Amino acid sequence: MKHRSEYRNPLLAGAIADRINRISRKPCSFMEFCGGHTLTIARHGIGSMLSERINLLSGPGCPVCVTPMEEVDLMSALAGLPDVIVATYGDMLRVPGSKASLLERRAEGADVRVVYSSYDAVELAMSNPHRQVVFFGIGFETTAPATAAAVLKASSLGLENFSVISAHKTTPPIIAALLSSGEMRLDGLVCPGHVSVITGVAPYRQAAAQGVSCVITGFEPVDILQAVLMLVEQVEQGRSEVEIQYSRTVRDEGNPRALRIMERVFAPVASNWRGIGVVPGSGLEVREQYCAFNARNRFDITLPETDEPAGCICGRILRGAASPADCPLFAGRCTPTSPVGACMVSSEGACQAHFRFRGHARL
Ligand code: SF4
Repeated sequence: MKHRSEYRNPLLAGAIADRINRISRKPCSFMEFCGGHTLTIARHGIGSMLSERINLLSGPGCPVCVTPMEEVDLMSALAGLPDVIVATYGDMLRVPGSKASLLERRAEGADVRVVYSSYDAVELAMSNPHRQVVFFGIGFETTAPATAAAVLKASSLGLENFSVISAHKTTPPIIAALLSSGEMRLDGLVCPGHVSVITGVAPYRQAAAQGVSCVITGFEPVDILQAVLMLVEQVEQGRSEVEIQYSRTVRDEGNPRALRIMERVFAPVASNWRGIGVVPGSGLEVREQYCAFNARNRFDITLPETDEPAGCICGRILRGAASPADCPLFAGRCTPTSPVGACMVSSEGACQAHFRFRGHARL
């Protein structure tokens, strides 16, 4: 299949769903790790095509949703400093901090710019030599190499007014943490396609060794349904392996060059996940060699600890232990135009996807 319409062909999708429902015997729970998958599943009503034996859970793969409030507060504080430009991806603008979002800080006069790539932030620094540009690096292995490349570019240019706050996270430690928590039983992982373009199959091997079937998947409805079919086949045949459905893009070994760049600039550190807590080794911090480009070193800002908004259950949703409709604030105090928690901010957040495509009712 080459064209998007083929990946959205309702007859093909229906035929795959029928096959899934025919061969599925055991009740099973599959978690989609990636926010892009959450969005596709909600938008195309994939859950409603499947037998009640198959339970699809959202996981912690929406970058905006898992970025903790203290990182938003840190960027907010930096944006308040004179002669500082904060550069960030657009989705981060509306994420609530403990006092204000970056969008609100911008409305108050702070210089917060939306960029489409990390190199845009480097160019911003080059064109504003008398101001400090701080890039907010968020996301998983998909975006971390680009932030690393920006640091290398700034280093090669000798830029003294560019630095980053790295809130990047990596997939293997959080998968291990979820599987060891015992909070829910998982039979399979719908593994993230874009992350896997960089990492290859390595992050999922441990899960497969623990008996959890894994399929790396693309983002169209037929992709997701094929992945669910492959997972059901594994479960029914008593297999737990790492398979690639998204073979038009993902290779076993991933992208070794991107991995090398990421490793050159970043070192693994413990990282706080919004609503989940600190997970050892799951974050990426700028290595000592490039500390001149680490905004945490360049600016002396200490912030008080933060609490999640009262009543928000984002953490349980990101761990697959609750659904948006379980939240007492869903569709009442918390909506996409007035989000209380991060899962309602991003289009890939489970709460916003549920609100937009599965109705506002708290079922
Ligand atoms: S509906 Fe809003 S308050 Fe409730 S969990 Fe989702 S983001 Fe948090």
